[in-house]
Amino acid sequence: MSKHKPNRAAQPNDIKAVQPKKKILVSACLYGYCCRYDGRSNLLRDKTFLDWKNRGLLVPVCPEVLGGLKTPRLPSEISEGRVISREGEDVSPQFNKGADEALKLAKENKVLFAIMKDGSPSCGCKHIYDGTFSGTKINGSGVCAKLLLENGIVVLAEDDMFTAKILFNEK
Ligand code: SF4
Repeated sequence: MSKHKPNRAAQPNDIKAVQPKKKILVSACLYGYCCRYDGRSNLLRDKTFLDWKNRGLLVPVCPEVLGGLKTPRLPSEISEGRVISREGEDVSPQFNKGADEALKLAKENKVLFAIMKDGSPSCGCKHIYDGTFSGTKINGSGVCAKLLLENGIVVLAEDDMFTAKILFNEK
């Protein structure tokens, strides 16, 4: 007779289901990348946001960089449906390309929602600047935030973390 104990039959609890991680699309400057037009970041120091970051749940995207623009770069604003740099260059093609790339990443990662930097001509979901480069904000969405919304992705601003936490726990 063998001295070895027979193998115990596998029990249901032995098989731990590997849950896919919940992912959230975020503006790369909120994540901490220095990708703003002026080469700085907008690191969001919210405790929950930083926890999600440490757990690898955030998918950082900078639509302007994804669209081929360099950092630093001239600031741009939306005017009559086009994105125009401070020196008058129409950078709409780069902004549209970046928005498409960000949407692709959002879909690939099956993100629950997005947290995007408000006020940006790409990422703003509540406000943008009015196109006069005078520092005047108006209600409106940036190019990328608009595309995400049109594709059914909830877009929150960085000051909407309360809602973000509720959405994260619901899904
Ligand atoms: Fe941040 Fe979006 Fe501007 Fe990139 S495009 S710097 S992610 S606000």
